Amino acid sequence: MPNTKTRIAIVGAGVAGLVVARHITSKLDTYSLTVFEQNDQIGGTWVYTDETHFNKHGLPVHSSMYKNLRTNFPKEVMQIPEFPFKDDDSMSYIHHSAIKQYILDYAGHFNLYPYIKLNTLVKHVEPEVLTNGQTLWALTHVDLNTKAETTKTYDAVMVCSGHYTVGHIPHIPGIESFHGDHIHSHQYRIPEVYAGKKVCILGASWSGIDIALEVAQYADKVYLSHNSEPIDLSMFVNIEQRVGVASIQGDLFTFLDDSSAEMDSFIYCTGYKFTYPFISAKVEIRTDDNHVEPIYKHLVHMDHTNLFFVDLLDFVIPFPLFHIQAQYILGILEGRIQLPSPQQMHEEYESEKKSLLDQGIPIRQINKLKDRQWAYYDEIAAAVNVPSFPPVMRKITNHVNEMRETNITEYKNYKYRIIDSENFSVSYKSC
Ligand SMILES: Cc1cc2nc3c(=O)[nH]c(=O)nc-3n(C[C@H](O)[C@H](O)[C@H](O)COP(=O)(O)OP(=O)(O)OC[C@H]3O[C@@H](n4cnc5c(N)ncnc54)[C@H](O)[C@@H]3O)c2cc1C
Repeated sequence: MPNTKTRIAIVGAGVAGLVVARHITSKLDTYSLTVFEQNDQIGGTWVYTDETHFNKHGLPVHSSMYKNLRTNFPKEVMQIPEFPFKDDDSMSYIHHSAIKQYILDYAGHFNLYPYIKLNTLVKHVEPEVLTNGQTLWALTHVDLNTKAETTKTYDAVMVCSGHYTVGHIPHIPGIESFHGDHIHSHQYRIPEVYAGKKVCILGASWSGIDIALEVAQYADKVYLSHNSEPIDLSMFVNIEQRVGVASIQGDLFTFLDDSSAEMDSFIYCTGYKFTYPFISAKVEIRTDDNHVEPIYKHLVHMDHTNLFFVDLLDFVIPFPLFHIQAQYILGILEGRIQLPSPQQMHEEYESEKKSLLDQGIPIRQINKLKDRQWAYYDEIAAAVNVPSFPPVMRKITNHVNEMRETNITEYKNYKYRIIDSENFSVSYKSC
């Protein structure tokens, strides 16, 4: 009897891949599923490793976790709606190892392990266009232990490969003359190695500030170089804020305001690049300026509506977002969501993009939703008729942002408790 199930391949067993897998495996009469994971365990970027560049298979290290990292969002906001964190009394901002355990528990609870192939790299995904115009996907994967390659055909592919592995490194004139060590935050692991050093940290987004705060506990001096508004770091006498780095000559860094200082070490906290090396060149994917096109609703390829990308967004709350996005994807596959024609999707997208550009939001910020996140959650949840984020999530997020702006060094000491879909309580626990 022919296999009439829709054959799904998921690339990556991080949170995105696992949440999508959880929804697909709830309909095993309709779908068959394989999740491909290059690592020897699930969890994606939450799998900490001391390795910094290449793993035992010679592949780039995937995870960007550093040893002391605690979440930058309270766990009460991060949790996936149907799977609350067990230890509700613990702190809200928890160590990365507790998130990894949560992910393992999630996979166990929803019995996802039987569908996951570990140590298996997706090497290539090629479109196969049938005579009826339908596109199938020939996916070639490699067993990293045996090196055996296998190609199989799938009806739909979900790309859940993450986007915090390949660092964006701006060119700084003279960097080649610098004698000190220089790494991207992707390779940063522990602050102790900076003991007694003068360290320049370029970039003051989440990682830049977090890393500056922990490096400053060991370094002689930290220069936090960025072009945003100055941050109140008055508690740290050895952190000095400077504008961007203009040039480097030997160990002398010159900043955009012509001030200069000598450095021993340099850490780029300058963000990441989207890369999809395994997708055929026949599939148009543009990733210039840190933005992926042509993708409709940040999820589905406009010209191949059975090729999905989960985790294209920044400045969102990813875990619960994946929970809604997974259901939106199934809505498309099952015909409960009728996508516009490719031409209409392109036109709609271009018009939204123009409107954002007119509002002064540059291309590289389009995927950073920030205040736009709430409307996006509501829109895709409504399209598939599932609950969106309850108002309490937005209220906690606003409180987090306010506390972060008020006191960047203390905001992780707040403990949140969700009372109901509208209300929360918060207390302060000094550590
Ligand atoms: C340093 C850091 C701190 C963060 N802190 C927070 C936080 O506090 N709160 C929060 O909500 N979010 C945080 N995030 C965001 C985090 O990325 C998301 O929470 C989420 O983990 C993303 O999951 P993902 O599955 O999309 O990607 P990933 O976790 O990156 O997983 C992708 C998986 O795909 C696999 N893969 C990639 N390519 C292939 C291939 N070709 N073949 C097979 N497998 C492949 C990888 O090995 C990996 O397991 C942080 C991110 C970083 C980098």
